[in-house]
Amino acid sequence: MAEKKIIYADHAATTRISQSVLEAMLPYFQDGYGNASGVYGLARSARKAIEEARRQTADALGALPDSIYFTSGGTEADNWAVREAAYAGRTSGKTHLITSNIEHHAVLHTCRRLEEEGFTITRIPANAEGMVSPEQVREALRPETALVSIMYANNEIGTIQPVDAIGSLCRQHGVLFHTDAVQAVGHLPIHLERQPVDLLSLSGHKLGAPKGIGALYIRKGVTLPNLMEGGGQEHGRRPGTENTALIVGLGIAMQEAASRMEEDSRYIARLRDLLEQRLLTIPATRLNGDRLQRLPGISSVSFDGIEGETMLLLLDMQGICASAGSACATGSPQPSHVLRAIGLSDRQAKGTIRFSLGSENTEQEISYIAKTVEEIAERLRAMTLG
Ligand code: PLP
Repeated sequence: MAEKKIIYADHAATTRISQSVLEAMLPYFQDGYGNASGVYGLARSARKAIEEARRQTADALGALPDSIYFTSGGTEADNWAVREAAYAGRTSGKTHLITSNIEHHAVLHTCRRLEEEGFTITRIPANAEGMVSPEQVREALRPETALVSIMYANNEIGTIQPVDAIGSLCRQHGVLFHTDAVQAVGHLPIHLERQPVDLLSLSGHKLGAPKGIGALYIRKGVTLPNLMEGGGQEHGRRPGTENTALIVGLGIAMQEAASRMEEDSRYIARLRDLLEQRLLTIPATRLNGDRLQRLPGISSVSFDGIEGETMLLLLDMQGICASAGSACATGSPQPSHVLRAIGLSDRQAKGTIRFSLGSENTEQEISYIAKTVEEIAERLRAMTLG
């Protein structure tokens, strides 16, 4: 099938797996199909591959291997951390949780559910750059706070939170600290043995591993009830026969991302800056998120008076993949809660496009994206005026 060339600028939604990740996984779909819990050679080699991937994942995070628990992705890891930390807290009368108003729905909706069950939730409002300050967290802490959950970096605008300062504060107050690091892992240097983080969620498909695999880091010594009940896999905390192939893919992707992080980040940030230089010369545009404390690859731009969804469809017709707000929000009539939280009007939020770049993008692609957006913006605005 001859396919039109695609210019992919939606890496925060998902990524393509590399050839080496694919090759590492393939044997475990067929010849290496053993159940890692078995005692024979076929099973032992699956177990060995899983433990190697756990080590690779842990190394990339500066963590101990037995603090890594594989999950089906970021959503599951977030649900596990937030819900179970809340339930654990409740056993000692702690029924208050702190989060922010710009979290991913995996955290926000879990909190909403907990609220329905009787927990009290403080949602810290992020500032105009999408930042949550440690001071706000300090003010929100109560003796009955069971958990603070603040994301590492935002998926729509890229703002990086002061997680170390927030984590230190939590530690001083003896409160568990969870961070949804789905957009940060593989893109920002993380060293969990040196950072005050108790629980951290990650997702493979954001960093070159397949969809359907992720992990929750649980600092050793932290009490977190099991996600589910079943067999003894993942120390019985997240039971179910392991998906060896995907776990192997995650291990390789983590290793690759860690080894290329510096170089890739520099390259991707340069492309992002080039793109922004062009896009921000289009009249009535604004850049969202913090100018400095942000992910290298995410650029969220609002175009006054333009329907983001229309722009996306026109971009798609030119082979360009980008998104409005976040992948999960696309197609939804609701404006993004993140963009609303940082002060954009409904209209501005709906006129926002997120470009998220990766290391396989080229300067030439950036010029093409910029030129295409310029033309579309001009055309759409002329139509509105005419
Ligand atoms: N958290 C953040 C910040 C995300 O960006 C995403 C995915 O978009 C998730 C959680 C969910 O991860 P997954 O798709 O692996 O369930």
